[in-house]
Amino acid sequence: MTDDCLFCRIVAGEIPATVVHETDDTLAFRDIDPKAPVHVLVISKAHHRDVATLAVADPALAGTVLAACAAVAEQEGLTGDGYRLIFNVGAHGGQEVFHVHGHVLGGRPLGRMLS
Ligand code: 5GP
Repeated sequence: MTDDCLFCRIVAGEIPATVVHETDDTLAFRDIDPKAPVHVLVISKAHHRDVATLAVADPALAGTVLAACAAVAEQEGLTGDGYRLIFNVGAHGGQEVFHVHGHVLGGRPLGRMLS
């Protein structure tokens, strides 16, 4: 827990969030500014800056976060038509909250990001 981290404060219950999935090590809640009909953020409860630092520091937990993303996609009914999973890393990657989080996006065709 770091006092100045928004997502640590959500884990601590200090800031409200619409939680859709929780395990001992992960929390998933709806994005406050959704970019698709389903837009859920999946985080580790432990504070890690981004997915790259998490993967080095605790590879097992990184896998646990990925499994939670897959569970959320299943729970939200996205597995049939598919979905997008995004981990932004750093400023050029568009990361604004520096606590590792996967964006699970779906519920409409999202188009190709790279071509
Ligand atoms: P990033 O740009 O860091 O990958 O994504 C951060 C995400 O957190 C954004 O999609 C933003 O809408 C979301 N977000 C920012 N503040 C809050 C908040 O207080 N509650 C929730 N549920 N989502 C937030």
